[in-house]
Amino acid sequence: MKLSEKRIVFIDMDDTLIKTTSGKTFPIGIYDMTLRLDVFAKIKAIAPNAVFIVSNQGGIEAGFVNITLFQQKFMYVIASLQEYVGIHTFVAGKFCPTQDAKFEGRKPNTAMLTSMLDEFEQILDHKFTKEDCVYIGDTLVDTEELTAKNFGCDFVPVETLLTMKIDAPMYRVVYKKGYSDFDGKIVTKAEATQVVREHTNDKGETELDIVPSKFIAPKPEEPKKESKPEVKQEKKSKVIKLPFAKKLNN
Ligand SMILES: [Mg+2]
Repeated sequence: MKLSEKRIVFIDMDDTLIKTTSGKTFPIGIYDMTLRLDVFAKIKAIAPNAVFIVSNQGGIEAGFVNITLFQQKFMYVIASLQEYVGIHTFVAGKFCPTQDAKFEGRKPNTAMLTSMLDEFEQILDHKFTKEDCVYIGDTLVDTEELTAKNFGCDFVPVETLLTMKIDAPMYRVVYKKGYSDFDGKIVTKAEATQVVREHTNDKGETELDIVPSKFIAPKPEEPKKESKPEVKQEKKSKVIKLPFAKKLNN
C-alpha cells in the first residue's frame, strides 16, 4: 500500500487528530485539547482529495459532554485541518452522539463514512474505489481497525503513520478556466512552477495554475445545439420561476 496514492482519508478524532492537554483519557472540557500537528503534516503530505473525520461521542448521550459546546470544538478541529492542508483537499466531519452499538452511524458501523463519501462523489460526479481510501485511527480501542475492516479499506494506526515515509506529492499544470490539463504530464512542484512562470502573459496575468495530481478536473460542458431551440427558450423565459415558488398552472 502506498499512502501517497490514497485519495480519501477517513480519520478518527480523539487520540488521533487531537489529544487531551491534561493527559487524561477523556477531555475535562472542550478546552482540554491539543491539535496533533505532526499528524496534520502527514495528512497534508498525502494530499488527498478529501479528509473525513469520523468520531464516536457517546459521552454526549451519557451526559458527560455538552453537545452544543462539542459542536464548536468539532468545527474548530475541521476548520484547523482545512486551513492546514489547503484548499485542494476537502475536509468534513461527522460525529455520533449515541452509545447504541446497533446504530449504523456509530463506529465500527460505517454509515458516517459512506454518507460523507456518497455526498462527495455526487458533488464531483466521480466514484472512488476502496483502494483509493485509507482509515487512520488509534489502537487504544479496536473500534478503529474494525471500522476500516467493515468499510473494506486499508487501516493505518496513527502512531505508524508518523513513522511512514510519504512520497512528495506530484502536481499538474492546468488552465485556470475549466481546469483542463496543460500537457497531461504529472511533475514535481518545482517543475510545475517553472511552466506556470513561463506562461504568464504580458499583462502579468497567470493563465495556468498548479494543482495536486489527484485533482479532478470538472467534466467539459456538452457542446450547445443549433440556434433553433434557443429561440424557443427565449420566449419561455418571460415566465420567471422562483426556486421555491409554487408550480404555475399552465
Ligand atoms: Mg480515538
